[in-house]
Amino acid sequence: MKKRLAVIWVKRDARLADNACFAEADKLGLEVLPFFCFEPSVLAATDTSDMHIHAQWQALKGLRQALRKIKADIVIAHGEIIGKLTKLHDQVPFSHLFAHEEIGNNITFQRDKAVAKWCLENGVEYREFPQSSVRRAGVNRDKLQQLWQSRIIDTKPLPIMKIRQGEDIRSMAAKTAFPKLPQFTFNRLWQPVSEADAHSTLSDFLNHRGCWYRGGISSPNTAFTAGSRLSVHLAWGTITTRQVWHAVRNRISNLEPDDSQSGRWKQSLNAFLSRLHWRDHFTQRLESEPDLEFRSLHPCYRDLRYENNEHLHSAWREGMTGYPMVDAVMRCLKATGFMNFRMRAMVVSFACHILHLDWRLIHPHLACVFRDYDPGIHLNQLQMQAGVVGMNVIRVYNPAKQLADWDSNCRFVKHWLPELKNHTAKQILNDEMPANYPARVVPFAERAKLMTNQLYAIRKSAEAREATKTVYLAHGSRKNEKLIRPKRPKRTPRPSSPTLFDSLEEDTNAE
Ligand SMILES: Cc1cc2nc3c(=O)[nH]c(=O)nc-3n(C[C@H](O)[C@H](O)[C@H](O)COP(=O)(O)OP(=O)(O)OC[C@H]3O[C@@H](n4cnc5c(N)ncnc54)[C@H](O)[C@@H]3O)c2cc1C
Repeated sequence: MKKRLAVIWVKRDARLADNACFAEADKLGLEVLPFFCFEPSVLAATDTSDMHIHAQWQALKGLRQALRKIKADIVIAHGEIIGKLTKLHDQVPFSHLFAHEEIGNNITFQRDKAVAKWCLENGVEYREFPQSSVRRAGVNRDKLQQLWQSRIIDTKPLPIMKIRQGEDIRSMAAKTAFPKLPQFTFNRLWQPVSEADAHSTLSDFLNHRGCWYRGGISSPNTAFTAGSRLSVHLAWGTITTRQVWHAVRNRISNLEPDDSQSGRWKQSLNAFLSRLHWRDHFTQRLESEPDLEFRSLHPCYRDLRYENNEHLHSAWREGMTGYPMVDAVMRCLKATGFMNFRMRAMVVSFACHILHLDWRLIHPHLACVFRDYDPGIHLNQLQMQAGVVGMNVIRVYNPAKQLADWDSNCRFVKHWLPELKNHTAKQILNDEMPANYPARVVPFAERAKLMTNQLYAIRKSAEAREATKTVYLAHGSRKNEKLIRPKRPKRTPRPSSPTLFDSLEEDTNAE
């Protein structure tokens, strides 16, 4: 006989507030048992690292503490999910399994399908709830704004629900200790991840740091404080986009008009809100095209030739390329797990356009050093910065220019490259490097030309232009919609004029 019990399968959503699973259980009057499973197949995936395992471990610790305060608890298991669900079901035959829709890599995608099948075979009612505006199994691109409006803007975040959990279930859960996972290292420079930390980060951003967002997020010297730093929380689900969106709107409407900084605050918070929107835009792409992990969105760039030289790959991973800005970013990422958008884009552009490494080759390492790794954003950004989406301007970041523009006093590079400690900014900017710093592994300009020639040759072909239209209609941001409407030319274009799709740009690097 089944118990009217909903097992709440916690994945990337270790939080109590704005949690549709708890809300549904409350609505149906069900007893609940939160359940998390560290799965060996996920832990061993090439895009999983200690940074991620630790983030989940910390988030779960926070959730357990919060649950214990309200006299409830969570089961934390270690093993493949089907086996663990079967064991739990044998112990307590539960009637429902609730989870949030996860938009992850192929491993979690296949795993979710297996869980749905297991529920069907075991008479368990399985329900999945969205936690963003992304629609399962894809959606017509034109409907995305409606979903954002209805799920994020028009719906208030859910409050913390009353949790029904009987003493027998609570004591069974309380007995499950944190499993002993294969040894993982922990670095104190990693950003803490828990529901409580998410809210304090948001509050600190909205009341202190956020004023400097606009103008502050491009430099690696200021982005650590001027950026919201909410990415880890949004990625691991300790806060939702909806909670953040409503808190920001609330802050904007409460800005004092007499405050001399109010104009600056408003510009910064509006710039932040548009970035928040990009999350779902990119995640929807992965949901609609699960193959993005393995092949480029644009079909014509799938056979692009890369060298994939292991020596260059290793120099890039270790921050030993001889390009100080690239090396400092790669070493900083390894230590802290964080970097701002511009610098992430630069290291991808450098790897693909200058070192000629395939974006699929560099994907696992980057995923592993991003504590906020979120496959939907990550895979799309990798492809965009590699220039294989077809809708974007092909942008080759010059690390020397990025250094001069965003770290002109060389504070950042000197911090992360001890070899440069005794060098002046002038020497570094003039590329007068000490003997113990590696020489440049490849020349910049020639290598950039080789790759951009290849990319432009594809881009200009009739086949690629046709395919770009299809890609754009399915996935492009509608801000450029007018560009796909046929326009009567004012005068006959010269043969060398840029064509319609050369200017179809989806630039998420507004700063
Ligand atoms: C190659 C590459 C890979 C990336 N991989 C990830 C990733 O795995 N996880 C991740 O969260 N971000 C990723 N980003 C986007 C971006 O760099 C980070 O979200 C941002 O630097 C996090 O800092 P923040 O929270 O202070 O961001 P803020 O600027 O405060 O932005 C707020 C939130 O908006 C979202 N966001 C910001 N920029 C973007 C963007 N360009 N596209 C989509 N959503 C965005 C993030 O959720 C972020 O937390 C990647 C960017 C590049 C170029």
